[in-house]
Amino acid sequence: MHEIRFHNTYSGKVEPFVPQTPNEVKMYTCGPTVYDFAHIGNFRTFVFQDALRRFLKLRGFRLTHVMNLTDVDDRIIANSAAAGVSIRDYTEKYIQAFFADCKTLSVEAPEHWIRATDNIDDMVSLIQRLQKNTYTYQSEGSIYYRISKFKDYGKLSKIDLSGMQVNARVDNDRYEKESARDFALWKAPKPGEHFWESPIGAGRPGWHIECSAMAMKYLGETLDIHTGGIDLSFPHHENEIAQSEAATGKQFVRFWMHAEHLLVEGEKMSKSAGNFFTLRDLFAKGYKPSALRFALCSVPYRRQLNFTFDGLQQATSSVERLRNFAARLKDEKFPSANRSTMKESIAQAAADFDAGLSDDLNTAQALAAMYDFVREANIAMDKGEFQQTDVAPAQEFLTSFDKVFAIVEDNDAEKLKNLGYDSATGDASDAEIEKLIAERQAARQRRDFPASDRIRKELSDRGIIVEDTKDGKVRWKRK
Ligand code: AMP
Ligand code: ZN
Repeated sequence: MHEIRFHNTYSGKVEPFVPQTPNEVKMYTCGPTVYDFAHIGNFRTFVFQDALRRFLKLRGFRLTHVMNLTDVDDRIIANSAAAGVSIRDYTEKYIQAFFADCKTLSVEAPEHWIRATDNIDDMVSLIQRLQKNTYTYQSEGSIYYRISKFKDYGKLSKIDLSGMQVNARVDNDRYEKESARDFALWKAPKPGEHFWESPIGAGRPGWHIECSAMAMKYLGETLDIHTGGIDLSFPHHENEIAQSEAATGKQFVRFWMHAEHLLVEGEKMSKSAGNFFTLRDLFAKGYKPSALRFALCSVPYRRQLNFTFDGLQQATSSVERLRNFAARLKDEKFPSANRSTMKESIAQAAADFDAGLSDDLNTAQALAAMYDFVREANIAMDKGEFQQTDVAPAQEFLTSFDKVFAIVEDNDAEKLKNLGYDSATGDASDAEIEKLIAERQAARQRRDFPASDRIRKELSDRGIIVEDTKDGKVRWKRK
């Protein structure tokens, strides 16, 4: 087996990966902000961290992996208030949708899936530690982190702070701060907003403190790996380092691993550009979960991934090719000579597969090892040279491969059925309809009637009748 080497954003280098405790890996992944359905860009990053955890497990490491669910932030507070429901009720639907999407894409459950709102006390304690170490100040009831006090600030993202001293805003907080780049640890409530009572005052946590507190609570003060999309390196991860290290005096994370973004047909994905897709949008168009997973993990995580429908079509054929090969191995009868003819090829392919993944999770190289082998084995089968004794080792290689890629085993139909795509008709699910209705309500509340009419028409086009009741509520039914 090859030495495992990963790119560490902190050092900017590819380094040998050795965890603190032999055979054990402590890993944290920034999970979704659950104010909406996750999109395929989010899943680029989540499939990357899934391939990473699966590879580490295949190599025999015991994993303690935490993924958080950010179920409190400014958008969630605003949207839940507009919809007149609690934060918990508002986010629950998207949390369940996220879990279902993960299952559908074979993204394994981490050892701990934790919600920010279940860990508020730990965030408060961490802020108190920072207060004690004099890294904070208060302003108008909110508590801020004083970045100028943390000398290593900017080392992860290599950001040049000199240009952002004065007015640059690193986050969207609309609060008074000593320096614009300082960030809120604890935000004072505004009228009508949800808040928690606490020894540091009434308020709610900032996004950054959530991850520091939850990561250290479940994994200890130093993690082996922390993952996320590249956009999180600044300011989110920079702030996580500043908070955690100022509190503990210890290195917070040994390996920072960031996935490059997904583009759609070469463009940044956005709702206004009309190139924004959730998983469900693609399933409604008839694509399979396995094809999407293949498309998302076929490009190594540090390269930008250009998602195209041609690519997704090719991914569908690539998955079929492997499944056909697995079926041949299972169903066909091969000559039984004494000597295996494929033994060396299989060993070489398995070694190349491991070499690819060990080299900073080079999924393209690992896939190439498998496809080269499949081509060679198919030719051997056609010529009658593939032997019965080759079947078991070939299957063993496919099984190891699938422990990481999870595309050979065919459970697409069942997964789609579980998501409500029974008949490939592309019917809207209840959750999608309710989301559109909530968006229409929000548009009406801000008196954006063109937007609310557009959403009503979209619902109507999808066979949904919306009725506004006298008491201001909304009822809907399918035509
Ligand atoms: P969010 O729900 O916005 O907190 O994002 C969840 C994860 O998705 C984070 O790790 C983001 O960095 C990542 N992410 C967001 N957009 C993209 C994209 N277009 N491509 C890859 N990852 C993304
Ligand atoms: Zn985070």
